[in-house]
Amino acid sequence: MDKPAEPEKVTCAVCRAEIPKAAALHAEGKDYVYHFCDAACFEHWDKEKEHGPEKS
Ligand SMILES: [Zn+2]
Repeated sequence: MDKPAEPEKVTCAVCRAEIPKAAALHAEGKDYVYHFCDAACFEHWDKEKEHGPEKS
């Protein structure tokens, strides 16, 4: 029953950084769970989701 030393990693949906799954924020889409490395990335994604991509 050995557990791997490496924690499972996921990729941030915004900046593509790899983070440990246990430390990631996540949001559920229709058929998919999105992971985020921190609150800033989550907010970025959440804004785009609500308002669509914006060009400034
Ligand atoms: Zn990120």
